[in-house]
Amino acid sequence: MDASSAPTVVPGQPASAPVKLRLRDVTKSFDHSVQPVVALQAVSLEVSEGECVVLFGPSGCGKSTVLNLIAGFETATSGEITLDGQPVREPGSDRLMLFQEHALFPWLNVIDNVMYGLRWQRPYRFRLRARRRKAMELLKLVHLEEFAGSAVHELSGGMKQRVALARALAPDPKVLLIDEPFPALDALVRAKLYGELQEILVRTRKTIVAVTHDPREAACLGDRVLVFTGRPGRIKGEIKIGLPRPRDINDSSVGEHARRINAQLESDDEKEPREKA
Ligand code: ADP
Ligand code: MG
Repeated sequence: MDASSAPTVVPGQPASAPVKLRLRDVTKSFDHSVQPVVALQAVSLEVSEGECVVLFGPSGCGKSTVLNLIAGFETATSGEITLDGQPVREPGSDRLMLFQEHALFPWLNVIDNVMYGLRWQRPYRFRLRARRRKAMELLKLVHLEEFAGSAVHELSGGMKQRVALARALAPDPKVLLIDEPFPALDALVRAKLYGELQEILVRTRKTIVAVTHDPREAACLGDRVLVFTGRPGRIKGEIKIGLPRPRDINDSSVGEHARRINAQLESDDEKEPREKA
């Protein structure tokens, strides 16, 4: 996307935005694995409604584990996770994960993949035409309406991830969880996808927790970036990104914030104290 011609949207939520998601003193250890490991230690964070918080840290610091706990795929060893004040105990369609692998069904075409995400949704359950209409709307959002009838294998890697995004948005989840979604793509495609992803975030006002080990990605996507220590993962700092959206991942102001994020990762102490949670 050409960031210069796109509308400028000021990021960040009004101070009054309610807390959507809260982790309080969450510790996770994997005691039953061959090598027992404490993946996370006393992690506390809050995400406001409509906010995009990025978890940034080295590989193995527990970022995916945080997402798995929020998604309800794993259970915390201690501590509490709440969504709208209610404890998270199991997976639910109010929290959807966009995986590293696009995970589309190769035997379904593009629109059927998106419609699959709507199959149990109340207003769409027995209404094929409404389902199709909604799926087309979502494909338009990710600029793939012309490919509705294409087979998955005919799409490029970036297009597959956009279909996966449309499918994840289909049930209108309250929280979208994004786990390093574009690692395997070349730099140009990735930059374009990040532009589009932000456009979608702004338009759908989803609450998002995203994970990355790339500081530029973190600075490009996040309203706030939480910097994790190495294993066991703890939050060592928070950096607010007050840049207007959509942001170009190659922009120098994004690079400037990426440097701050990296500096926080490499610092021994908590130089930039967390402002929230
Ligand atoms: P990241 O996403 O930051 O790279 P992960 O959350 O995937 O890190 O993993 C954090 C640590 O927890 C790693 O040491 C990993 O091996 C371990 N771990 C993650 N999931 C499991 C599991 N299901 N069983 C055992 N160990 C796990
Ligand atoms: Mg991971």
